[in-house]
Amino acid sequence: MDKFIPLSIPNFEGNEEKYVVDAIASTFVSTVGGYVSRMEKDLASFLKVDNVAVCQSGTSALHLSMVDAGVKSGDVVLVPPLTFIAAVNPVKYRFATPVFIDCDDSFCLDPIKLRSFCEEECEWDGEVLKYKGASVKALVVVHVFGNMADMESIMNTAEKYNIKVIEDATEALGTKYNEGKYKDKYAGTIGDYGCYSFNGNKIITTGGGGAVTARESATVDHIRFLSTQAKTDPHYYIHDEIGYNYRMTNLQAALGVAQMEELPEFIKRKQRNYELYKSAFDGFKYGKLMPFRDGTDSNKWFYSIEIDRDHIKASMREIITILEKDKIQTRAIWGLINEQKPYEGEGTYKLEKAPYYAERILNIPSSTQITEDEIRYVSDKIKTLLEELANE
Ligand SMILES: *Cc1c(COP(=O)(O)O)cnc(C)c1O
Repeated sequence: MDKFIPLSIPNFEGNEEKYVVDAIASTFVSTVGGYVSRMEKDLASFLKVDNVAVCQSGTSALHLSMVDAGVKSGDVVLVPPLTFIAAVNPVKYRFATPVFIDCDDSFCLDPIKLRSFCEEECEWDGEVLKYKGASVKALVVVHVFGNMADMESIMNTAEKYNIKVIEDATEALGTKYNEGKYKDKYAGTIGDYGCYSFNGNKIITTGGGGAVTARESATVDHIRFLSTQAKTDPHYYIHDEIGYNYRMTNLQAALGVAQMEELPEFIKRKQRNYELYKSAFDGFKYGKLMPFRDGTDSNKWFYSIEIDRDHIKASMREIITILEKDKIQTRAIWGLINEQKPYEGEGTYKLEKAPYYAERILNIPSSTQITEDEIRYVSDKIKTLLEELANE
């Protein structure tokens, strides 16, 4: 291959340039403009919800959800250890206390451990769940790599113990259940809040951007209000709450409206490419392509190989560096958040799967533009390398 094969890059095959040029020509480049409201409508209609507020990033979407949920200093928020740190940082923005609960084999929150944490480690007075005297106010559930967490079980526990559910669906736009209680429900539309990201590596991008939906339409209105500095009066500068400058701009939204037109096609390609990798890795001994949850149609945003650590001792850095020389970009799954400096000493609960997967998962190229030949090339190179490393 002479071509470098990137991990995950944007795809602008549609009306991106046309709409962005149009936004510039209109002079509406900031947070007011037709594309901003169109982006909100397009997202709402895709997700089959009433109301969506668009904002500057997935991180700001999570932050605004936490503000609206009333998370404050001293509260406890249950969070995942194995994901992108942006899912957890907003807890610290609120001066609240994270407690890390383990994941299951989908990399998403383990519903059984969530339940046993609430039952065995906390006290329930019929209204508030308390952990070491602090209110367990919310939980952040991340739909990792386009997977879907076990929402039925998680919602049962959250409803029983009055915990607000913030879905981090930043990686899972388009993932939905195809059976069960939440059949046809999209990731991000089941809990109290659903957050999306349109960063450059996500399934669609606005350069930087995000969105929030919520169970109650009025909640989304409140979040939109908070994102525009919480100005209460149309004529005077009157503010009854602390607001943020988090609204998406019309320039970003112009890109986003074009990307929304292509989203169904992007999902199809991700799903098809996953099947190609699946046949390539079928029966391979030293690396397993991780599945997505049964009963869901996943957007299959990101693909993961579990390295056989019984036979392969090479570090992820070694593996990634060798593949780079073959012009294949791969990456290690994240480092555990509870081990990062700002989180040292925070509470954890039964972390077993998270550290297990942290040293085993390699993410492989998953862009929508990748060709069948490239997938074959990538698969062959990775398999050959892992075989060599296993026999060392
Ligand atoms: C990308 C991502 C975010 C943050 O989104 P930004 O738009 O980059 O702020 C949050 N959580 C997870 C799991 C992500 O992958």
